[in-house]
Amino acid sequence: TNRTFTMIKPDAVEKGYIGAILEKITSAGFKIVAMKYTQLNKRDAEKFYEVHKERPFFSDLVQFMTRGPIVSAILEKENAVEDFRALIGATNPADAAEGTIRKLFASNMAENAVHGSDSDENAAIEGAFHFSGREIY
Ligand code: ATP
Repeated sequence: TNRTFTMIKPDAVEKGYIGAILEKITSAGFKIVAMKYTQLNKRDAEKFYEVHKERPFFSDLVQFMTRGPIVSAILEKENAVEDFRALIGATNPADAAEGTIRKLFASNMAENAVHGSDSDENAAIEGAFHFSGREIY
């Protein structure tokens, strides 16, 4: 069993998709071991997406991720990182497979409803960025 980190992004929260997305996640066998409803400030978003800081979309990404509340969570399941990436689908919802969370709920490449860690190492880093030890079960 291992873990991944996710955020339901501001676009999906604004559209009222929190419940539907959590239903997809738990139905797929993920156990929620930490969760909060929160809003990122600019500094947090810049730090979280630091790897993208030279990309042309960086400032738009920070603007988007800070514009409203998000839900962040740590999820547990066997093969969590890979299985969660499969559940959410491609970055661009136009390329995402039928039935994936991004196909169902994302607007476009930038406003794509959810985040999912891309490695076990990043899952641990991202989880620790959002949660203290006492908030994880
Ligand atoms: P995430 O890390 O959020 O799960 P990802 O790994 O599928 O997404 P990345 O390439 O790491 O995608 O990009 C991080 C985020 O930056 C994307 O989820 C999306 O919100 C935004 N993004 C990526 N590419 C673009 C782009 N070309 N234009 C605008 N925004 C983009």
